[in-house]
Amino acid sequence: MPIIEVTALHKAYGRTKAADGVSLAVEEGEIFGVLGPNGAGKTTTVECVEGLRVPDAGTVRVAGFDPVADHAEVARVLGAQLQESELQPKLTVREALELYAAFYPAPADWRPLAERLGLTRHLNSRFGKLSGGQKQRLSIALALIGNPKVVVLDELTTGLDPRARRDTWELIEDVRRGGVTVLLVTHFMEEAERLCDRIAVIDKGRVVALDTPSGLIGRAPGSTVVSFIPSAPLDADQLRGLPGVSSVDQSGGRWTVHGGDDTVNAVLTLLARLHITAHQLRVTEATLDDAFLDLTENTPHGKAR
Ligand code: ATP
Repeated sequence: MPIIEVTALHKAYGRTKAADGVSLAVEEGEIFGVLGPNGAGKTTTVECVEGLRVPDAGTVRVAGFDPVADHAEVARVLGAQLQESELQPKLTVREALELYAAFYPAPADWRPLAERLGLTRHLNSRFGKLSGGQKQRLSIALALIGNPKVVVLDELTTGLDPRARRDTWELIEDVRRGGVTVLLVTHFMEEAERLCDRIAVIDKGRVVALDTPSGLIGRAPGSTVVSFIPSAPLDADQLRGLPGVSSVDQSGGRWTVHGGDDTVNAVLTLLARLHITAHQLRVTEATLDDAFLDLTENTPHGKAR
């Protein structure tokens, strides 16, 4: 049974359909990413999972419980990042950690958590005086303090410097190794590619793709690009006829072939058969960025792939 199951979720604000039939299932122990452009409906979806928003239609289950009707049960298994408005500016980091630990029957020891998140030096600092990055780290610590089975992290590393971001990724990998399922909303493709087992791409309130990072990249048309200067004249139609090839261009003697996983092999085999050498051969692969842009820019509203 999936630990998080969202089925045909609808949530509108006036005429804005923030979630327009979102369905996804997260397996226990996964790091599951939610990607999408600004305003796509990501926060709305995860806040329905957290029980912070009430769906208009559809069902949400966390460990089999309804986050609205069974709020207490869900609160026991789910940890969420804090909203900035939830903490008093005068509370110190230590007080916040102790306070949140007291909410849970079997909390984590907050000291190693604070150490891991680089908060030990700031234990006596007041929340209102923390930098954006320090607040972010504290909110991650508070999400983990109840030893949750599922943790929801929305824009986990926004505002963190590159080192803190990398440390946080390692922390998330540690958290998962400890058996916690992670639902992660992010705008950072590198973060999604590095951390996530699977990703749901949401656009205009709908899931437009759900796959592993490499599966998503592989879907980008022309995900592999082979370019070379042939040692002898070449017929473009022969290249176009190769399996998986989506386009062929020629400019200044250099040929560029866009295709999929098998394109490099197919092109080199063809050239060998024609006794043509590929000079200055270059192969580049699409990134999650390319896949994201393709999935979210060209998808007509309301059309799921
Ligand atoms: P971002 O990446 O910018 O955080 P998001 O994908 O998380 O965006 P949501 O915050 O879920 O998107 O918003 C989806 C749509 O619903 C947007 O058009 C947003 O303006 C609208 N919306 C969200 N919350 C509310 C609200 N409380 N009242 C009115 N409209 C809202």
